[in-house]
Amino acid sequence: MYDLLIHDGILVTSNGAKYADLAISDGKLVAISPQLTGSASEEIDATGLHIFPGVIDAHVHFNEPGRTNWEGFATGSRALAAGGTTTFCDMPLNASPPTLDAASFALKREASEAASLVDFALWGGLVPSNIEQLDELAECGAIGFKAFMSNSGIDDFDAVDDDTLQRGMERAARLGKLVAVHAEDDHLTTKLAREAIKKGQTSVRDYLQARPVSAELDAIQRAIGIAEATGCSLHIVHISCGAGISLVAEARARNVDVSCETCPHYLVLTEEDMERMGAVAKCSPPLRIKAEQEMLWEHLRMGHIQTIGSDHSPSPTTMKIAQSFFQVWGGISGCQSLLSLLLTKGHHERNLPLSLLTTLTAEAVARRFQLPGKGKLVIGADADLALVDLQAQTILHTEDLHYRHQQSPYIGMSMRGQITQTLLRGRTVYKQGQCSTQAHGQLLTPQRR
Ligand SMILES: [Zn+2]
Repeated sequence: MYDLLIHDGILVTSNGAKYADLAISDGKLVAISPQLTGSASEEIDATGLHIFPGVIDAHVHFNEPGRTNWEGFATGSRALAAGGTTTFCDMPLNASPPTLDAASFALKREASEAASLVDFALWGGLVPSNIEQLDELAECGAIGFKAFMSNSGIDDFDAVDDDTLQRGMERAARLGKLVAVHAEDDHLTTKLAREAIKKGQTSVRDYLQARPVSAELDAIQRAIGIAEATGCSLHIVHISCGAGISLVAEARARNVDVSCETCPHYLVLTEEDMERMGAVAKCSPPLRIKAEQEMLWEHLRMGHIQTIGSDHSPSPTTMKIAQSFFQVWGGISGCQSLLSLLLTKGHHERNLPLSLLTTLTAEAVARRFQLPGKGKLVIGADADLALVDLQAQTILHTEDLHYRHQQSPYIGMSMRGQITQTLLRGRTVYKQGQCSTQAHGQLLTPQRR
C-alpha cells in the first residue's frame, strides 16, 4: 500500500523522457515502472502530462526577515510552487539583517520554516567585515558564500575588493564551501554612472551604457584568477553575455572548479525591452542586445552553462518610480515563470531537449550545491514533482502572479507549457491556480555524495 500512485505520466530525466507510473511513500519515490500495480491512499491520473523533477532555483531574494514587505517567504514560495519549483536557495541580501553570521542565519531559517511552502537552502554572505564569521555560517549549513564585486545597491551589504575576495575564498576553500560572485567591475561601473549622472544623462540608455559587457568580463576574469590561485570552488551568478560564458568554459577546460548561471530574463528579454518596459525590466548586469542573447542560447545548447536561476529580486512598487533610471530599484520579478519561459522559448521555439532543461533547472543544481535527495527522479529521492501540460497555451495575467507585488516583465506574454500541479515530498503544494496554505518547507544543508 503506497501513499500515492501517479499513473501514465511522461517522466522527464536527463537521459530523455519515458512513460512511467510512480509510487510514493513517506515523501519519497519508492517505485518507478512502466506499469505499477498495487493500491494507494491517493491516485493521480497523469495521462498526457510530463512529470519534471521539481525545479531548484538557486538564486532568489525573498528579503525576509526585515524587508518582508518586499516579498517574504509566504508569497515568494507560493509563486515558486505555482511555477513548478520545489526548492529555492535564498540570497544573503536583501533581508535585514543580511545573512552574515550564525545569528542572522538562524533568524532567516526560522522565518522560512514558518512560512515556506517548499524546501530551501540558504546562502551566507561574504563581505569585508565577516571573514571571521564564515566558519559559523558553514557550521549552520550555508550552501556557500555570496559576494558582490560591485555595489550591491543596498547599504548593509558591502562589496568586496580583490584582496577581501581572495581572503574569503581562501577561508571558503578550507571549509569546503563555494563562493558565488556578482561579477561586474566596480571601478568602471561607478565611474561611468557618476559621469552620466553629472551630465544629467539618466535614461534607460544611459544606464545601459554605464554597465557595459567589458565591466562584466573584467570581473569574471579576476574572480576566476582568484579561484584558481586559492583552489576555491567558484559560481558566477547571472552572466548576461556570451563572452562571459566563454571565459568560464575556458577555465573549466583547464580544470578550474568554476560554474556559471544565467537567468531567464537574459534569455528572453533584450535592451529594447528594458527601454520599452522601464523599471520592471531593470536588472544588473543589464539586459543585452539580441546578438548576446543568441550567444547565451548557443552556450546553453553546448552545455557551457551549468544552472539557471531566476534572480527574483522584487521591491515595493514605490521603489520602482524615480526621475532617474539610476535611482530606480534594480531587480526583476520572475521566479514564478522560470520553467514556463524555458519551455516556451527554449523547448518550443528553439527545440532544446527537455532533458537539457531539467538538467539545468534541477539535476545539475542539486549536484553543484550538494542538496540531498533533490534534483532527479530516482528511487529513494524526494518526490518533488512538477506536472506539466506541455502543449497548453496560456497568457500570463497579472492576477496569475502569487508575488506580494504583482509586477513582472512577463505579464501579457504567451506561454506554452503549463504547470498543472506541483508536489513537495509527495504532498500537493499547488494545483490549477491554487496553492496549499500549509508551510512544510524544510532547510536543506549540503551533503557530499
Ligand atoms: Zn541576485
